[in-house]
Amino acid sequence: MKKYLFLIILLGVNYLALAQKVAEPSTTAHPEWSKPYPPFQIAGNLYYVGTYDLACYLIVTPKGNILINTGLASSAPVIKTGIEALGFKLADTKILLTTQAHYDHMGAMAAIKKLTGAKMMVDAGDAAVLADGGRSDYALGSTTSPYAPVKADRLLHNGDTVKLGGMSLVVLHHPGHTKGSCSFLFDVKDSKRKYRVLIANLPTIITDKKFSEIPAYPHIAADYAYTLAAMKKLTFDIWLASHASQFGLYDKHRPGSAYNPAAFIDRKGYDAQLKDLQAQFTKKINEK
Ligand SMILES: [Zn+2]
Repeated sequence: MKKYLFLIILLGVNYLALAQKVAEPSTTAHPEWSKPYPPFQIAGNLYYVGTYDLACYLIVTPKGNILINTGLASSAPVIKTGIEALGFKLADTKILLTTQAHYDHMGAMAAIKKLTGAKMMVDAGDAAVLADGGRSDYALGSTTSPYAPVKADRLLHNGDTVKLGGMSLVVLHHPGHTKGSCSFLFDVKDSKRKYRVLIANLPTIITDKKFSEIPAYPHIAADYAYTLAAMKKLTFDIWLASHASQFGLYDKHRPGSAYNPAAFIDRKGYDAQLKDLQAQFTKKINEK
């Protein structure tokens, strides 16, 4: 009996350890991250299914769907309800992608992967961080995981394509914000025309440390410089981003308004964002 009691205690402790392993940081400073937002059709078979600010994208194909980003852990039901409101099924998700391995985009990924059995494909630079739930992230890492770990089914590299049901997404390695941040470039079409879409992971700087003082990411400055240069050269019709506020969703779309892909054609807004990010980067590397 004593032996069993010992076992029960041991299991209980293990269970507690597991339960405590994931601790999402508080987001009370960002109420817009968990605020629901009505899903809508952006262009062709591309839909917005995220929260008010945490952008999640659904690409619908005859062979199943691709979901890019998941928001916070609490976003899982928001995404599911959104997909259903659009007339689709979460269960049809075949491929999961993320623009970066941070908890505000990865929070519900493990849960959605479990629900759908979809394949997680991630930029190779973020695979290790994904697998430990963000614990080893150079900036947001800690002893607990900010989100539930996800093991990648496929590692993606710059220029790789993700294909499903006639869709082909080009992976653009845009490191800096995380080691494996990436953007996606692909074509969608409706009855009128074709649109080249860029889902951009903007290289915002999150660390307060000097770039020269981050041993966990020695080539961070070179990565940001590469990403900024690469992003300036991209051509596209429509651009979107990891956060809705980054591409000005609220100026371009009103909930319930009619289908209007042209609203997201905005090279000027993209260039302005990059100009601002370039200035922040220059300031950062010149820090004494
Ligand atoms: Zn981030």
